[in-house]
Amino acid sequence: MSTVVGHDPRTGQPVGGGVPHTSPADLDQIVAAATAAAPRLAALGPVDRARLLTGLADALDVAGEDLVPLAMAETGLGRPRLVGEVARTSFQLRLMATAVLEGSLVEAVLDSADPTAAPPRPDLRRMLVPIGPVLVFSASNFPFAFSTLGGDTASALAAGCPVVVKAHEGHPELTARCTALARDVVSDLGLPSGTFDAVYGVESGPAAVQHPGIRACGFTGSARGGRALFDLANQRPDPIPFYGELGSINPTVVTPAAIAARGEEIAAGYVGSFTLGNGQFCTKPGLLFLPAGHGLDGRLRELVGEVESAPMLTERVRAAFDTGVGSLADRPSVRVIAAPEASPGRPGQWAAPSLLATSAAQWSSDVEALSQECFGPVSLVVEYESPGELVAALSLLEGSLTATVHAEPVDGLPVADLLAVLDRKVGRVIWNGWPTGVAVAWAMQHGGPHPVTTNALHTSVGVTATRRWLRPVTYQSVPDALLPPALREGNPLGIPRRVDGVLVLP
Ligand code: NAP
Repeated sequence: MSTVVGHDPRTGQPVGGGVPHTSPADLDQIVAAATAAAPRLAALGPVDRARLLTGLADALDVAGEDLVPLAMAETGLGRPRLVGEVARTSFQLRLMATAVLEGSLVEAVLDSADPTAAPPRPDLRRMLVPIGPVLVFSASNFPFAFSTLGGDTASALAAGCPVVVKAHEGHPELTARCTALARDVVSDLGLPSGTFDAVYGVESGPAAVQHPGIRACGFTGSARGGRALFDLANQRPDPIPFYGELGSINPTVVTPAAIAARGEEIAAGYVGSFTLGNGQFCTKPGLLFLPAGHGLDGRLRELVGEVESAPMLTERVRAAFDTGVGSLADRPSVRVIAAPEASPGRPGQWAAPSLLATSAAQWSSDVEALSQECFGPVSLVVEYESPGELVAALSLLEGSLTATVHAEPVDGLPVADLLAVLDRKVGRVIWNGWPTGVAVAWAMQHGGPHPVTTNALHTSVGVTATRRWLRPVTYQSVPDALLPPALREGNPLGIPRRVDGVLVLP
């Protein structure tokens, strides 16, 4: 039987014996188990649902020390980063548990009968219910937080949906360990075994997207892969929601006043941000708009030269990075601010950062080629001559996860106009900061207009990520005893509800 084998990006050597590909028959069995588990999970009260989430968080924290060395071997990411990622992932599961107990996620709304209304109104009670088994595609660059027990899984379980994870080929052994851990928690809590499972092998992804038992998909990964799978989800006889979180260019704008006040600090922050994690973040600032004559070339070159080469996640990611940097640097209008010295071949997937530059006029005339995400440690400085040229260039941008503005309290540039252009293009606007680092919170928005996601209405990070896996149902004139507890007259769950138009807190 063929297996999925991860490779250590630091050495190129295989890690472990590999995990068997999921056969079509096994996929059927896994999805059938998830389908059978769905009604039981949907009927779980908030306390039991929260117990599942906190049980997973506790188990992950206990296993973290053992799992981190395996994650290091399969991804080449460093220990401090991965220890932090385990903590982020268990925090995320616990935050979801708190939200489930708080109860507002089901959006309970009660409108009492009113025969005098025009038209007359019957008793109407509406809430969100789980959509059914969710398929989660994990990403290579967050082997915990956007993977097996990451944000998509946590939010789907919080919604009351069983989860089938499509393992990333970059970290199959880690996926298998996290899956075993999760299945033990599910079994200890007496929940159906179909609550959680994983499938392996590139063929199992498209097959699972098209499986009639799967009711929605979450995907974090490349634009190309996401688009191919999104199309499959839509071509089904019964199209299903597909939430693709894809690559992003994350424009950052710096005003002349900000350069004058703190140019050195901005240069250091920028290089730190675009090389963090060897540039393998979807929030990496891929474009930096600087005023022409900024005078930072020398300092930027020095700072980039101080960053050591580091392994990239997989051979595929490394190959795409080499191609991407090559095609950017080959554009006639692009000049190189900093590039690594050619080094003798070394086993593994090592790469060092590059920094490129062009003018806003040239960028605007070649916008499609010069605004593609290149996943890895590279960024493009775009030099603008005037506020008008800057605003015109920004208006050409496509959707991104984030946009950042560095400006001063009293600034010569019309910063309100810049924000007004940018907030139409992105899911998160950042003031005097850097886009890498995505807090897990109620107010977080991680998403944005096409092409950065396949659905701009939702977030994949933060509590409201749960909304993707819920579907509204109105119960009309249904007797109290037959209503879901969230909608019963006495509010037995003690949750916030909108009653006859007024928000009522418990
Ligand atoms: P990827 O190569 O697209 O892989 C993601 C998943 O999709 C894997 O399970 C992969 O399966 C599967 N897949 C990809 N193409 C497929 C196809 N044509 N048919 C079937 N399955 C396919 O992405 P990645 O290397 O994990 O991540 C890098 C990208 O993710 C970057 O562009 C980054 O910006 C983006 N990202 C976005 C976010 C966000 O929140 N927006 C967060 C992190 C990363 P196999 O592993 O079996 O090949």
